[in-house]
Amino acid sequence: MKHIYNFSAGPAVLPAEVLQQARDEMVDWHGSGMSVMEMSHRGKEFMSIAAKTEADLRELAGIPDNYKVLFLSGGASSQFAMVPMNLLRGKKSANYINTGEWSKKAIKEAKRYCAVHIAASSEDANFTYVPPQNVWNIDREAAYLHYTPNETIGGVEFNWTPDLAHLGVEMPLVADMSSSFMSRPLDVARFGMIYAGAQKNVGPAGLCIVIVREDLLGTTVPGTPTMFDYKTHADNDSMYNTPPTYPMYICGLVLEWLKKKGGLAEMERINIAKANLLYDFLDKTDFYHCPVGKADRSRMNVPFTLKDTGLDEEFLKQAKEQGLVQLKGHRSVGGMRASIYNAMPPEGVKVLVEFMKEFARTHA
Ligand SMILES: *Cc1c(COP(=O)(O)O)cnc(C)c1O
Repeated sequence: MKHIYNFSAGPAVLPAEVLQQARDEMVDWHGSGMSVMEMSHRGKEFMSIAAKTEADLRELAGIPDNYKVLFLSGGASSQFAMVPMNLLRGKKSANYINTGEWSKKAIKEAKRYCAVHIAASSEDANFTYVPPQNVWNIDREAAYLHYTPNETIGGVEFNWTPDLAHLGVEMPLVADMSSSFMSRPLDVARFGMIYAGAQKNVGPAGLCIVIVREDLLGTTVPGTPTMFDYKTHADNDSMYNTPPTYPMYICGLVLEWLKKKGGLAEMERINIAKANLLYDFLDKTDFYHCPVGKADRSRMNVPFTLKDTGLDEEFLKQAKEQGLVQLKGHRSVGGMRASIYNAMPPEGVKVLVEFMKEFARTHA
């Protein structure tokens, strides 16, 4: 098989061990004579897979007992509507921090349900930094505060967790963690709700994980469809309808892999080393440039430009010949983007940096 390193922003690289195990179990899962794809979601085989996936997630992320874990379909994008539908709880407004393209999408959707108060924004500087919380202007009557810990497109990451109590504000903190979920330890008790599409860091597309504090459930805006009410899924262990069974199974394998790797603290150590390798190189050359402020650089998605955009196509072509694929930046920002999620081995980043050095040397 051809060996490549896949830097896609999502759907993204999965651990090779996980894919190999899925292959081995594809047509006969644990002697059941069935593929996981063919199982009833209410049968004991799949129920055991779902229970193990949730238990491993709870263990790895340290999820307290008063939080529900939901396995939903519809992607993180459905959450842009489900969050206000479920969490407004009779209030008229919600706070949003605007740090990039995904924040903007969440804001646009929330405006259909409430008055959106932008408590802080980095749009003034083309979303190249995170506004520190001492400049946030929070609507204290609002239902919650929503932010995007890692902006997948801009490569901007909160390397800290907002501390609303410190600001004297009491409201649930809501996070779209799609592209940084399980990349570092996390203190779930600081959040009212966390959601993450699986296809960046914990599995294939088709699954969205929601972690929500129990006391926030049960009040939805009038007209909320049954399927968009978190309580429907919480009361039925995510089996009200057919959940995305195969993505849940693969997610379970990824979580087992994470446990074997040493959990989130060890994953963070590896992710810091990978990101440093790439950013240290970017800072040392004039040939490449990373637009993001140093303190707010993403460990997961590293955007960079070449000093001459006329070389972009040649860069991508030669990278591909070396087995380094999906490095093209998002159409909205251009340039390059290397996504280096949990499943990207350190070796992949080393090979990328070596290639970039050589390309700079031969095209300077
Ligand atoms: C990818 C992504 C989304 C959208 O996820 P879908 O599953 O495609 O709906 C939302 N937010 C962030 C931060 C993302 O990276």
